[in-house]
Amino acid sequence: MVTRPQDTDIKYLKGIGDAKAKQLLRLGVLTVWDLLTYFPVRFEDRSKIIKICEVEHDKYACVNATVITPVSEHYIRKGLTYYKVQVRDDSGILTCIFFNNPYIKTYLKRGYEYSFYGKINIRRGAREMLTPEFEPSSHSECTKCIVPVYALTNGITQKFLRKTIAEAYKSYSKYLIDPIPPEILREYSLCPIDFAIKNIHFPKDFDSLEIAKKRLIFEEFFILQTTLRKMKSTAGKATGISFSKVDASPFLSSLPFSLTNAQRQVCDEIIKDLKSGVVMNRLVQGDVGSGKTVVAALALFLCAQNGYQAAMMAPTEVLARQHYNDLSPVLESLGIKCTLLTGSTTAKNKKDIYDKLENGDIDIAFGTHALITEKVAFRNLALAITDEQHRFGVRQRMLLGEKGDCVHTLVMTATPIPRTLALIVYGDLDISVIDELPPGRQRIDTYCVGEDMRERINNFIRKEIEKGNRAYIVCPAVEESETMEIKSAQEHYDFLSRNIFPDIPMGIVHGKMKAKDKESAMCDFICGNTKILVSTTVIEVGVNVPEATLMVIENAERFGLSQLHQLRGRVGRGKEKSYCVLFCNSFSDETKERMKIMTKSNDGFEISETDLKLRGPGDFFGTRQHGEISFKIANLANDFTVLKDSGIAAEKLLLADPDLSNDEHYYIRLEAEKLSQKLTL
Ligand code: ADP
Ligand code: MG
Repeated sequence: MVTRPQDTDIKYLKGIGDAKAKQLLRLGVLTVWDLLTYFPVRFEDRSKIIKICEVEHDKYACVNATVITPVSEHYIRKGLTYYKVQVRDDSGILTCIFFNNPYIKTYLKRGYEYSFYGKINIRRGAREMLTPEFEPSSHSECTKCIVPVYALTNGITQKFLRKTIAEAYKSYSKYLIDPIPPEILREYSLCPIDFAIKNIHFPKDFDSLEIAKKRLIFEEFFILQTTLRKMKSTAGKATGISFSKVDASPFLSSLPFSLTNAQRQVCDEIIKDLKSGVVMNRLVQGDVGSGKTVVAALALFLCAQNGYQAAMMAPTEVLARQHYNDLSPVLESLGIKCTLLTGSTTAKNKKDIYDKLENGDIDIAFGTHALITEKVAFRNLALAITDEQHRFGVRQRMLLGEKGDCVHTLVMTATPIPRTLALIVYGDLDISVIDELPPGRQRIDTYCVGEDMRERINNFIRKEIEKGNRAYIVCPAVEESETMEIKSAQEHYDFLSRNIFPDIPMGIVHGKMKAKDKESAMCDFICGNTKILVSTTVIEVGVNVPEATLMVIENAERFGLSQLHQLRGRVGRGKEKSYCVLFCNSFSDETKERMKIMTKSNDGFEISETDLKLRGPGDFFGTRQHGEISFKIANLANDFTVLKDSGIAAEKLLLADPDLSNDEHYYIRLEAEKLSQKLTL
């Protein structure tokens, strides 16, 4: 049995004690493999040696030169001493300057040749190099080569990382095992793993670096896609309850409106799943306000028609109650029994609900996480719906499904994701898209403003309230230690309620409040006890307050576009014209671009495409709980070709060996199992 770097604690490396291990842990490095895959953030090209006479002011240079003077020490004041030494090559003389580093005297010996790398300063014709890195000219670890630059943490220096990674590579390269099967390496001309690891840290030249990068990116995508496809195929084979009664008309005719084409299309897809005899695993993606709830309701209705129970889970109590209030009248009128189960349901009621769910007296349960507690048991649960799924982990979604046998699952999300990305982020699910809003929606006029507009906006807020409307003011969630320019919800609330709107009832909601206090603040706003709600992004999901017509977002530059769009979707839900005001503190080019799309477009898909282009895919991966999917080196925005190739390769692999049970697929199976565990935790 070999010791894989993956299974080797970093402490087994030479020179790593408890203290260093602790510091490395801050970089996410726990094993030797973590260290070997702690990739540089960039590289410095020190490969070219130049003559001293060629150095340029303010530029970095690498020179080979002989020390021609002793190191002299210059005391400036307490805590500041500098050291000077002159070096020369056959073209000229250079003065090297070091600060507060007495050891220079022992390191640099007169008459010996070294290589120096550092920034050049030319003063009145005299050439200086400030705090150069150097080594004997026969070495090429930090000079005469391409040097990796890593992200650091307290106590960990570039030099230490370079040395330790080189050491780790030396001791463990022979134990690196390639998870990519050899035939795939061949087909896509990928280099072997040891070459890749070596050259991603210490590239021989830029071509080798590219070769290494390409392979490592391929590997990340390949493992992810193999994992997701395997999860999906395992789930997709499971037999599900086949519904025979799929006539939706009684439900549809009891609605006060008719479905949009997009809603109808998605309903058809769901009905097809429910009839098929295979378990449904479907994601419904639709912009805020596109009408996902009614699609879910149709599935609930069909389930009850067929004599089975269904459950619909929402991330907050407010949202769960809203679903219950909206849907249960329609469903009850069709003879279907509904209930609401949340954290604040009284113990006595809970007991009653548990009994009725277990003996089948209730057909449909709406609720929060309370639905997945151990005490809840169903007689014959056949459908589990999760709303605003990005607020749940996959594990929680699965827990609800596990309350029955072969349960169909439907998850809803209002975070529109570009199609290409959706395939990755939700590769384990089938995807339906509602890409159309119900008729008659008004555009939410959106303005991006600076501090100079503060007074006018405050007046505008007041005017809306006087008209009988309500306003949200959203602040970014910040730690107190962060910069002064950013408004925390609490401070902003204190200021506004004291100085600007002392006569208007205001509420506040933020993440650090107790769930119960949050709920009651939300309820006050929903029923109109408060007119202005200051909050962090906790209000981002699903809540429907038709009287809210104004959304003010502070430090809008701090939010992702998709998040801004989500937040804006909290207004414009009633008949009144609605507005969104984005306060920006900085106007970098990127911010300008991002705010421009917000003011121009109300279309979540268009906005998300722009977000992907401008900021890369990070924000979208955040839409899965805990950033379950993250990449060490791959970048979805840039690496689409590799993404596609690796997807095809993953598909082919699973076609040939669906369970990855062949011996030569042992290590890819191991990786896939590890990742799928992480994804479902
Ligand atoms: P979301 O997709 O954000 O969850 P909802 O399901 O809450 O959106 O729907 C938003 C509003 O649109 C609700 O008030 C709902 O009754 C209404 N609605 C949904 N579908 C239609 C439709 N086809 N025609 C008119 N109004 C609709
Ligand atoms: Mg919704």
